Amino acid sequence: PLVLGIETSCDETGIGIVRGRTLLSNTIASSMDEHARYGGVVPEVAARAHLEALQPSIEAALAESHVGLTDIDAIAVTSGPGLAGALMVGVGAAKALAVSLERPLYAVNHLVGHIAADILDADAPPLEYPTVALLVSGGHTSLLLVRDLTTDVELLGETMDDAAGEAFDKVARLLGLPYPGGPEIDRAAAAGDADAIRFPRGLSRASDLAAHRYDFSFSGLKTAVARWVEQTQAAGEEVPVADVAASFREAVVDVLVTKALAACADHGVPRLLLGGGVIANKRLRDVAIERADAAGVTVRIPPLSLCTDNGAMIAALAAELIMAGRPPSTLAFGADSTLPVTEIQVAPSREA
Ligand code: ATP
Ligand code: MG
Ligand code: FE
Repeated sequence: PLVLGIETSCDETGIGIVRGRTLLSNTIASSMDEHARYGGVVPEVAARAHLEALQPSIEAALAESHVGLTDIDAIAVTSGPGLAGALMVGVGAAKALAVSLERPLYAVNHLVGHIAADILDADAPPLEYPTVALLVSGGHTSLLLVRDLTTDVELLGETMDDAAGEAFDKVARLLGLPYPGGPEIDRAAAAGDADAIRFPRGLSRASDLAAHRYDFSFSGLKTAVARWVEQTQAAGEEVPVADVAASFREAVVDVLVTKALAACADHGVPRLLLGGGVIANKRLRDVAIERADAAGVTVRIPPLSLCTDNGAMIAALAAELIMAGRPPSTLAFGADSTLPVTEIQVAPSREA
């Protein structure tokens, strides 16, 4: 099926068009620059930016795919999780398109969409099940066990406070680096010593592991960095930004990889899929590949343009649902900012 996907859960307006498992276009307009001076995504600003970007993005995606609007077989949209106002803009647009074109509409889960992105990687062999998936971005840090993309996704753990990308953004800010912090920390860390400072690994003590083996916590790490910087300044010393950045990054990477590989080992799953914008971090990719290799686990990393928020992954997930024979959503669903990952497609019971 030829599917047009709409993604507006955060600050990217993503329009993607796929034909089955083939990617035709992946248009991404980001309002990131508008949020920069606030140091994080401002929901109202994001929602308005989606409204402005949607129409031109849809036109650009159609042109790039060399298809017309009436060629589209189905519309797909992110129903949640994400920012309520931002989601609503995409959901409204998707309904309008589905009604006017008289096409089926698939309301799907953003997190499962991140996994579906892998299907569009033409250079990779087909995704095998089960697989463990680690999704890390500015809004989420989740560890999933995927037995089947269209029927069975289990949440193993998630962050109890800040998302990993959010931690990068907050620590960058306290080091005086601009937003978004991930790339800035990365750049600063290049000249630093990762072993210079031993920052805490959240929820990694034996006492924490019992209840939170696959959960994450980054707010304690952020506080530890803040305290270390304050104490250094109070002592009248210059803050070694490169060492702090490298040591902080190592703490985040270490805990992400350790827990993901623990999930693989515990469940006897020799496959790990990575997704989300924080995958842009080369140190994370390197450590994941190196340690997975030693553990006999194969790592899959889709191209970065498919790892960050995009509409193609949403279209890809809907295409899988269609190919699996699943009925479309009714028009009565709404945006659901807390949609659980187990709801791959918005369940009829949730359709208001
Ligand atoms: P969502 O959580 O809904 O996926 P998002 O827009 O917050 O949305 P992404 O766009 O996928 O997430 O990723 C942005 C996040 O990734 C930011 O927090 C940014 O700091 C982080 N990031 C980007 N590049 C890097 C990097 N090289 N290292 C670490 N973090 C990075
Ligand atoms: Mg983003
Ligand atoms: Fe996302």
